[in-house]
Parts: sequence; C-alpha cells; structure tokens
Amino acid sequence: MKLVFATNNKNKIKEIKHLIGDSIELLSLEEINCNEDIPETSDTIPGNALQKARYVYEKYGYNCFADDTGLEIEALNGAPGIYSARYAGEQRLAENNMNKVLSELNGIENREAQFKTVIALIVDGQEHLFEGIVQGEITPKKSGSAGFGYDPIFQPEGYDITFSEMSLEEKNKISHRGKAVKKLIDYLTSLSLSQ
Ligand code: IMP
Repeated sequence: MKLVFATNNKNKIKEIKHLIGDSIELLSLEEINCNEDIPETSDTIPGNALQKARYVYEKYGYNCFADDTGLEIEALNGAPGIYSARYAGEQRLAENNMNKVLSELNGIENREAQFKTVIALIVDGQEHLFEGIVQGEITPKKSGSAGFGYDPIFQPEGYDITFSEMSLEEKNKISHRGKAVKKLIDYLTSLSLSQ
C-alpha cells in the first residue's frame, strides 16, 4: 500500500519509515508534488490533523495520515495548545516560546502540563484517529540541550530530568508522539497482515 505522510518534516518521515517496515510505501508531500501550504485552521488538535489528512486525500487521492501536536498547560487553561509553534509570534522561535511560558507561570504553583499528539489516518475514505499524551510539569528554568521546541522546560511525570536531558530513544519510548505513532503502526500492521 502507498501511504502519504502529510508533513514537510524530513526527520518525522525518516523516523516513521524506519518503524513502518517494507509492506507500506511511505511517500512525502514532496514525492507527490504537493508543494503548497496545507491549511491548518481548526481550533483543535484533532481538527488540524484531520484537516491536513483530508486535504491530501481529497486533492491528491492518496491514502494518507497527518499529525498535530500541542503543549497544554493547566494553569494557562490549555494554552499554548494549537498555538504551540507560534506562541510568542510568527517567527516560531523555541527560545521565545519557552520564555513566554516561563514568564506566564512566574509565581504560579500549578505547573502541570501535557503534550498531546493526534494522528489522523485516512484509508479508502475511512478516518481513524490515534492519540498520544504524556503528562508532566513545566520546570522553573530550561535544562538540557537535546530535542526541540519546549523540551528544555518539560519534565515528564516520574522523571527528574527534562525531555532535553534524555536521549531520543528514551524520549520516544514515553513521548506523546511515540505513543501515537505506536498506535498508528499497530493499526497499519494489522491491516497489512489481513491483506
Ligand atoms: P507539530 O504539530 O508537530 O508541528 O508541533 C507543534 C509545536 O509543538 C512545535 O513547533 C513545538 O513547538 C511543539 N512540540 C511538538 N512536539 C514537541 C516535542 O516533542 N517537544 C517539544 N515541543 C514540541
């Protein structure tokens, strides 16, 4: 089966290609000549994932999946959520985003937060959603140098280090994206076994 991953992020494609095995031919947006920006205008994480997957399915006719992720902070009523990438402005700078979160939580005791990833898959017109959540807290300051985004200020539950202080393998085992991808792969494997 040919399957498009509706992303321009080469690292994500590489990571999933490695996990998915040979029975599925994974294609990037570039490989199907989809060079336009796919609209992402929903006000929810699953809504955005579905919007991207539907765009590719309807316009290009491929079975496909898309992902969307947000950091949800309890004391900020779920912000930054769908605005995670551009929380401190359209430049989408991780440093500025983290500084904004840290200053908004200054003096606030409740630092509980979660990362949520939703993957929307469309196969032969049937839509499926796979969710991965990791709970944790926002640390008082940045620690570590690995990873990206909010990793230096997110400490997963049960650990005393941030995502940025973990190896990628360690992070993937417990992360929001790791969990959602595992559900997707389990489902795709069950499909290819039944063919
Ligand atoms: P996307 O939907 O995967 O592009 O994620 C949206 C934004 O959420 C990113 O630009 C990051 O700011 C943040 N984000 C997503 N996943 C992670 C992660 O694993 N660690 C830290 N930040 C993340």
